[in-house]
Amino acid sequence: MTTRLVLATRNLAKLAELRRILEAGQIPVDVADLAEYPGMPEVAETGLTFAENALLKARAVAAFTGLPAVADDSGLCVDALNGMPGVLSARWSGKHGADEANLWLVLAQMSDVPAGRRGAHFTCAAALVLPSGAEQVTEGVLAGSLTREPRGSNGFGYDPIFVPAGGQLTTAQLSAAEKDKISHRGRALRALAPVIAALLG
Ligand code: IMP
Repeated sequence: MTTRLVLATRNLAKLAELRRILEAGQIPVDVADLAEYPGMPEVAETGLTFAENALLKARAVAAFTGLPAVADDSGLCVDALNGMPGVLSARWSGKHGADEANLWLVLAQMSDVPAGRRGAHFTCAAALVLPSGAEQVTEGVLAGSLTREPRGSNGFGYDPIFVPAGGQLTTAQLSAAEKDKISHRGRALRALAPVIAALLG
C-alpha cells in the first residue's frame, strides 16, 4: 500500500510541485493537502526562524491527521535590512499576504541603498514530521539582489523586485518552470525527497 503524506498547505501550486519532485525521484508516496482535512485549525507562525515555523506547522498537521506531514516556511532576507523581513515577509506591511504593500515598503526602506549593497536571498525551510515524533528539516536558498522598481507579473510576493545572482530578469519575469529549477522552495523540497524516501518509501 502506498504511504500517505499530508502537505500543510491549501496552495495547489505547492501541492503540484511536491508531487512532481517526488515523482521525479520515483518515491512512491501519495501526497494530500489540507483541502482533504477541512477541520485542521490554522497554525500561528510564532517561530523566530523559518525552520521553527515549518516544524510548528508540520507537527500540528501530523498530530491532527495521524499521518506523516510536510510543511514549508519561506521569506525574503535583505542584507541591508539585517536579514528582514525574514519570517515576517508575509505580513511586513502589517497585513498578512498584502503582497503589493509589502514589496513597496521594502523598496522604500531600500531607497538610499546603492547598487552593490542591495544583496538579498529567498530562504525556504521544509520540515517532515512523523506521528512517531521523528523530525527532519531541510533548507534551500536563492541568492540575488533587489531592483529599484518592480518588473514582471509572474510569481507572487517579492518576485517583481528580486533578481537571482548571475541573471538580469526578476523572478517575476521567469516562467514557473524556470523559477522551480532554481527556487529556494524547489531546493528545500528536493533536499527533503531522499529523507521522505528513507523514512516512508
Ligand atoms: P509562505 O512561506 O508561502 O507563507 O511565504 C511567506 C512570504 O514570503 C510570502 O508571502 C512572500 O511574501 C514571501 N515569499 C516566499 N517565497 C517567495 C517567492 O518565491 N517569491 C516571492 N516572495 C516569496
